[in-house]
Amino acid sequence: MPLSEKINLFGKSLPELEEIALNFGERKFRGKQLYEWLYNKKVLNLEECSNLPKSFINQLNNNYMIHHPEVIKVLTDPEDGTQKYLLKLEDDKLIEAVLMNYSFGNSVCLSTQVGCAMGCTFCASGKNGKDRNLTAEEIAGQIIAIENYSGKQISNIVLMGMGEPLDNFDNVLKFIKLANQNLNIGQRHITLSTCGLVDKIKALADEKLQINLAISLHSPFQNKREEILPIAKRYNIDQLINASKEYFNKTGRRVTYEYTVIPDFNNSEADALELKKLIGNIPHHINLIPLNPVTKEVKPSRDNVKLFAEILNKQGLISTIRRKNGKNIEAACGQLRNQELEI
Ligand code: SF4
Repeated sequence: MPLSEKINLFGKSLPELEEIALNFGERKFRGKQLYEWLYNKKVLNLEECSNLPKSFINQLNNNYMIHHPEVIKVLTDPEDGTQKYLLKLEDDKLIEAVLMNYSFGNSVCLSTQVGCAMGCTFCASGKNGKDRNLTAEEIAGQIIAIENYSGKQISNIVLMGMGEPLDNFDNVLKFIKLANQNLNIGQRHITLSTCGLVDKIKALADEKLQINLAISLHSPFQNKREEILPIAKRYNIDQLINASKEYFNKTGRRVTYEYTVIPDFNNSEADALELKKLIGNIPHHINLIPLNPVTKEVKPSRDNVKLFAEILNKQGLISTIRRKNGKNIEAACGQLRNQELEI
């Protein structure tokens, strides 16, 4: 059977692996052994499964494979060790992921789609639209590829790479369960970031997961959001804030509002006052992000971010400034892939 027609074992649940073992005339516990090789020892090929009978491995090899995205290029920031990965999927499509080292553990920022349909003006990932959704196995496979390359164990996941996670709802939900149950990463260690697909935020709230939700707010004004986030034309700001309240009410998880500080656009006293009206009375956390320039003409805004944090603080709003990882490499989402594809 050609490699491309073989079925990927990575992503299968324990009952599915037990069934595969039984179908090949093996005892059920062989499925459990296979599960441990796939998710605890994280092997890259079946030959490494040393306690499985050779005959079973041969049978598996005829129909199945273990496949993860392939590491094509890695940029390492010499200052903070942040690594940006360019990864190739089975159909040769390229995606990006970032490994960041924190005092609390190693965190990865993963892609959920090839490209993105959302078209946020400050983002390189959406420049050429969406190509396709990633499967749950492709999203999780980025973790294995990075762990294998770096030798580091991942403890935290941020779904904030290429793609809008809620535009790939079913696969992302499947991924969260896979990461939680098979790779043993706690739901509270997983953060999903969305540009604001209101109906999907509500659907996510109904799942009552314990993951963290981050919403790209970037301005408390409807007209300004529309300027930089095309999705704001579909869902207005009141609908968005109501959906975030619903998420908190159903899950008990405080929502984070992502706020990229764009000089002379969204960092005035008036912006802070409007933000207070909007979210001042609900549990909130504002994550201030220095603008990561997609083009060289836009200047980074670290000082503006500090000043805006002080303005917010005076209004009683809770904010932190996101640590700038990988500032010596092309760590803004989508930049490395675009260079490779010459977009
Ligand atoms: S910021 Fe996120 S949602 Fe917006 S275009 Fe980029 S990847 Fe897509």
